[in-house]
Amino acid sequence: NHQIVLNSRPNGAPTPDNFRAQSTPVPMPASGQVLLRTLYLSLDPYMRGRMSDAASYAAAVGIGEVMVGAVVARVEASQHPGYRVGDLVLANTGWQKFALSDTNDLIRLDADLAQPSLALGVLGMPGFTAYMGLLDIGQPKAGDTVVVAAASGAVGSVVGQIAKIKGCRVVGLAGGAEKCAYVVNELGFDACIDHRSPDFAQALATACAKGIDVYFESVGGAVFDAVLPLLNTGARIPVCGLIAHYNDTALPPGPDRLSLLTRTLLIKRIKMQGFIIFDDYGHRYDEFFTQMSKWVADGRIKFKEDIVDGLENAPQAFIGLLEGRNFGKLIVRVTKD
Ligand code: NDP
Repeated sequence: NHQIVLNSRPNGAPTPDNFRAQSTPVPMPASGQVLLRTLYLSLDPYMRGRMSDAASYAAAVGIGEVMVGAVVARVEASQHPGYRVGDLVLANTGWQKFALSDTNDLIRLDADLAQPSLALGVLGMPGFTAYMGLLDIGQPKAGDTVVVAAASGAVGSVVGQIAKIKGCRVVGLAGGAEKCAYVVNELGFDACIDHRSPDFAQALATACAKGIDVYFESVGGAVFDAVLPLLNTGARIPVCGLIAHYNDTALPPGPDRLSLLTRTLLIKRIKMQGFIIFDDYGHRYDEFFTQMSKWVADGRIKFKEDIVDGLENAPQAFIGLLEGRNFGKLIVRVTKD
């Protein structure tokens, strides 16, 4: 079996030596278990949090333990009456080629799924995050201006397209001209601003002539600084992530803008709310899945996958995710068939 384990905890940005590849015998399922073969491994920003032992909403991966992650897997051998060889499942077995499961946390996938990897993206956790964060916390109304951070990515791309379906004016933020062109031309956003361009704040203000009613926050840092003065009275801010800060080792240098933030929240009666998707909304997964499957089937929600071949390339791909080197939902194809 091939596995990638956490070798050491990063100090700042993760480096290849924080990971270690190892080979172990492929395990045999005991009674009540199945042996899973990983087809696709999802790489997601939350994994940076699991590499750290700082207090968070979920436990850290231990040193020497297999890195966590959601996978699409195929049953390779079964000692469980409910599963047959060849069944496709969504599992949480992490960065490894084979794994045993007692089947308790498995979700069955339709055997004829044309593209099973979608269960890790638009039809899975990132799509669900976009759907609940925007609709339940963002409360978009027709005519609102919605600004979406990390707009070309797994979550942001879906946020903006749902906001368009709801009749909003949608402005994306993305790194570089190629991602911005995709966001406007393929995803149908009204505008997209390159957050790395020197006149970013001015360009954002120009694109949001009527201010911002919903800011879908995934980034933090300089992006949030540019958004803050543009927020309208009664604006909503779903706080989904803060990827610009995941590698920080200390609070960023001043000036301290906390009172500017709280003053803005006060005088503009802004609602800013964090959420952790399955903890807060797990009970609404079916509603999401039914609606999103329809939107995808009807071509109303488009998606892009960034597929990397080979488990051994997962560490580099993950390091790149935190630097914006991915373009679309980042997935590792572990088994080619
Ligand atoms: P993406 O596919 O969007 O990939 C991450 C993107 O973040 C990069 O491509 C890059 O895009 C952008 N980025 C990275 N570093 C920076 C930076 N310093 N400044 C600005 N942008 C940066 O990832 P996901 O869609 O999977 O995740 C997006 C966000 O949603 C993350 O913050 C993640 O933690 C959060 N999330 C939260 C969940 C929850 O339950 N709360 C669940 C799932 C995701 P670009 O090149 O455009 O800058």
